[in-house]
Amino acid sequence: MHSQQVTAEVERDSAVGDVPGALRSPASGADRAPLVFDVIIAGCGPTGAMLAAELRLHDVRVLVLEKETEPKSFVRIVGLHIRSLELMAMRGLLERVLQHGRQRPAAGFFAAINKPAPKDLDSAYAYLLGIPQPVIERLLEEHAIELGAQVRRGRAVAGFEQDDEGVTVELADGERLRSRYLVGCDGGRSTVRKLLGVGFPGEPSRTETLMGEMEVGVPQQEIAAKVTELRETRQPFWLRPFGEGVYSVVVPAAGVSDRAEPPTLEDFKQQLRTIAGTDFGVHSPRWMSRFGDATRLAERYRVGRVLLAGDAAHIHPPTGGQGLNLGVQDAFNLGWKLAAQLRGWAPETLLDTYQAERHPVAEDVLDNTRAQMELLSTEPGPQAVRRLLTELMDFDEVNRHLIEKITAIGIRYDFGEGPDLLGRRLRDIDVKQGHLYGLLHRGRGLLLDRTERLTVGGWSDRVDYLADPTAGLDVPCVLLRPDGHVAWIGDDQQDLNDHLSRWFGKPAD
Ligand SMILES: Cc1cc2nc3c(=O)[nH]c(=O)nc-3n(C[C@H](O)[C@H](O)[C@H](O)COP(=O)(O)OP(=O)(O)OC[C@H]3O[C@@H](n4cnc5c(N)ncnc54)[C@H](O)[C@@H]3O)c2cc1C
Repeated sequence: MHSQQVTAEVERDSAVGDVPGALRSPASGADRAPLVFDVIIAGCGPTGAMLAAELRLHDVRVLVLEKETEPKSFVRIVGLHIRSLELMAMRGLLERVLQHGRQRPAAGFFAAINKPAPKDLDSAYAYLLGIPQPVIERLLEEHAIELGAQVRRGRAVAGFEQDDEGVTVELADGERLRSRYLVGCDGGRSTVRKLLGVGFPGEPSRTETLMGEMEVGVPQQEIAAKVTELRETRQPFWLRPFGEGVYSVVVPAAGVSDRAEPPTLEDFKQQLRTIAGTDFGVHSPRWMSRFGDATRLAERYRVGRVLLAGDAAHIHPPTGGQGLNLGVQDAFNLGWKLAAQLRGWAPETLLDTYQAERHPVAEDVLDNTRAQMELLSTEPGPQAVRRLLTELMDFDEVNRHLIEKITAIGIRYDFGEGPDLLGRRLRDIDVKQGHLYGLLHRGRGLLLDRTERLTVGGWSDRVDYLADPTAGLDVPCVLLRPDGHVAWIGDDQQDLNDHLSRWFGKPAD
């Protein structure tokens, strides 16, 4: 079906409104439920929430279905890396997230090798923002809702059927909903991925780790000294203060209690005594969890009208703190493309560039976490490689390469032959109106024209135009996609028009 027709049909269906009864229907046949939603997202983790917000920027009608009735309380992440902070800045969210996090140097991530960050990293936001995962999830969910996304909690996706026009989604309570597309952002054990029959090859978990938040019974200096002494040789192991006497505690799970049971405080005490000779008087746990180091990547990110993003598409050990960042960046890549498809202006292959661009990025992240896990082994061979890499990281280029990889500012999508900047994201440069990223809040394309000669013509409903001869660039003009990646560099109008067509479809009449 032509996508223009799709949009028209969806508009007509909107007359049904959000009356719950109107959504119930058999799964197939002439009585299918009306297409009240353009996109249903399974899972309101960071990936699902970010995707919902991106789609709402383009007026796509989004419903997010979340299995859990309450938001998660587990504090998992190290924080937001540079590229994710840039995304927040591009959507006007940075101030909000900065209020809830703590800025730390962008260093020491790769296999926890302690080297300072290179001084001139290519970003206006060259730091790590330490922020608990529940907080970032809440902020992203609030942002999506403010933009008009519907989030329904306590509603698990249990099945779906897709046809030429849409997807019928079945919830665990038997309710059926219809949408044009379904996106599985439902985490590593993704129901959507399993039902889709997409392979998830990789390695199973080899080692498991316990992580929790609890209070301690000894002074901070005593803990810090012991942790510094043991961290080089005992991995995984840390006790990190989280404020108000609460510590984040990480110890190996090997040898403790039944895997099927949640870990206990006694498990943590026992492991701490084995590693450090003391349990530091840990008590009053806030929460305790167990995670593995399985590494897997979905074979496909899209089957027809159903797509996968975030942990549903890739899982890997948390070394380097990349998983949430990777998922949020998947959503940022997918959002405008799916919206373009629904609005009817997407070039034919645009939606497939989501997998073409993001699958290799995930492959690279999986590989770097595999390498880091080896470097964290306490066996003599990997320890020798670790010492060698530690020496190599004294070379600025090696250190920079690894940091750009972990923080995702080194990504270059393959847009074909061209200057090195083509396919990379553009940093937040100064422009005459202030900051470049301040002009990207609406999630549209942007032509930054230093020649003041070019025009976006019939694409002005999708692409903004800024003439600024003073912009801090060493090329005449750049065309930015809504995700801030450089889609074209040049100064020729015809060449520009070709590239506008490639990324933004046919011009409006
Ligand atoms: C110990 C640990 C430390 C980590 N540290 C970091 C770090 O420092 N930095 C980093 O970037 N990442 C880190 N990660 C990884 C990060 O937590 C995940 O990558 C991230 O949560 C993925 O987000 P997501 O939205 O894709 O999936 P999830 O966060 O798993 O969210 C999926 C959501 O879908 C819901 N859901 C599941 N099934 C259904 C269904 N059938 N229907 C409806 N809803 C459903 C779930 O309830 C959940 O809310 C860490 C992970 C662990 C375990």
